[in-house]
Amino acid sequence: MLRALEAMVAQKRDYYEVLGVSRGASPDEIKSAYRKAALQFHPDRNKEAGAEERFKEAAEAYEVLSDPEKRARYDRHGHAGLEGVGVHDFGGMNVEDIFSIFGDLFGDAFGGRMRRRADRGIDIQTAIEIDLREVVTGVEKTLRFERLDFCERCGGQGAEPGSRRRACSTCGGYGQVEQQTQMGFFVTRQVVDCPRCDGRGAIVEKPCRTCDGQGRQRRERVVQVKVPAGVHDGQSIRLRGEGEPSASGSARGDLRCVIRVKDHPFFQRDGDHLICVLPVSFTQAALGGQIDVPTLTDPAPIRIAPGTQHGTTIRLPGKGLPNMRTGRRGDQIIQVLVEIPRRLTREQEELLRRFAATEDRSVMPESKGFFDRVREYFSGEGKT
Ligand SMILES: [Zn+2]
Ligand SMILES: [Zn+2]
Repeated sequence: MLRALEAMVAQKRDYYEVLGVSRGASPDEIKSAYRKAALQFHPDRNKEAGAEERFKEAAEAYEVLSDPEKRARYDRHGHAGLEGVGVHDFGGMNVEDIFSIFGDLFGDAFGGRMRRRADRGIDIQTAIEIDLREVVTGVEKTLRFERLDFCERCGGQGAEPGSRRRACSTCGGYGQVEQQTQMGFFVTRQVVDCPRCDGRGAIVEKPCRTCDGQGRQRRERVVQVKVPAGVHDGQSIRLRGEGEPSASGSARGDLRCVIRVKDHPFFQRDGDHLICVLPVSFTQAALGGQIDVPTLTDPAPIRIAPGTQHGTTIRLPGKGLPNMRTGRRGDQIIQVLVEIPRRLTREQEELLRRFAATEDRSVMPESKGFFDRVREYFSGEGKT
């Protein structure tokens, strides 16, 4: 599971490479590289497999590299540096949503159609990091993130408080107009955003000072997120209506919180089970004894039977992780690692030599069987 996620992260391409610019590229170079990539891979123009993914990839790269703060974080820490800074979830968006974010860059490159505002809000994503103990109990996390929000000063209307908004006379307040295009004998009609009011349906007499008439501003948002017990790395929790409003301001999108489960110093997760390796000295393995093994919550004393073999597994039922559906906890599985000393004191060596002299292979069934088979093998070969 962890490895799968690492692979996913590793697959994410370098943003500079995606846009085909150098690390020192200027904002203008980045902008024009993004324009070029978006035009090249736009699914309406490019029917090759993977074009839409390339299109979304370019949008993500542009979002980060066009924002000085995000770019600085990316330069310093790579993709990991962007967790929690509110990069849009382009993968979950349709192409028109993406155009409604960066639409101004394209002007009329796609005709009016592409400037149509998505009525759904815009989804954003962030990551929540938890540890294995929190997987056992479930946890409530306070999440701080930045998102584009309705402007506080003007309530999203774009008008300076006290000033008036008039219905736009071009579109009659609808925000959209019908456009006719003549191509040879054909006339096509399509509905596009009103060019005069930019789809808002109203003209603002005095633009709001805070948001410059946009009706939007970036604001910090704090939400509580309940992470259920048993959650797996890479799963996500969707908070409806915690994303960003669409440009027309009708509704907010969702916030997707991707769960990252931190690596643990002793435990590896295998579904609902926890695996840990227990180093045991060869004398402990031979003589048996009591050993404290860590569980997620506290140390648990376990008994090692005399003659325990390397690779033996010992199960602690119910000491694993809860199953998300049933709530039943899996097991902790201990793998015994018998360690052979690398260095011996003179006294230890002396004792071991004496031990070796007394060794009777008949009490060691594995090796006895092995040497018997070796003898049979060579005697059989001698006959042919
Ligand atoms: Zn405002
Ligand atoms: Zn209008």
